[in-house]
Amino acid sequence: MTVSPLSPTQLHTFETALGVRRIELTEQTQRLADTFAGVQSARTDGSADGAHDAEASSLRTEWSRMSGFQAEAVQELAAIDRALLRIADGTYGLCVRGGERIPDGRLEIKPAADLCIACAEKAAARR
Ligand SMILES: [Zn+2]
Repeated sequence: MTVSPLSPTQLHTFETALGVRRIELTEQTQRLADTFAGVQSARTDGSADGAHDAEASSLRTEWSRMSGFQAEAVQELAAIDRALLRIADGTYGLCVRGGERIPDGRLEIKPAADLCIACAEKAAARR
């Protein structure tokens, strides 16, 4: 079995950073969910005059903007959970595709990174 190339101290640091980010994202998605609920009830209570139409349209814009944030936050949360699992099973810091070591600098910027730079670039080029 492949063993994480990071020291226990480094793993602890990344685990803490991931945990903090996870809490932030969980709170953010919860707030967005509450806002969605608020927007929905505002839309069902309203009257159908012209002013309301303008408001409804700006709500729709706001709604799609929030949906985008929500989708990103949910994806990032999933990436963080996968990173925490890799810390638990000892493969954190290794590229999930090629098994190469992910540079520390990359993990510091993006602790949930699961690809080395070369694989991430290949993945981005395919998109
Ligand atoms: Zn790789």
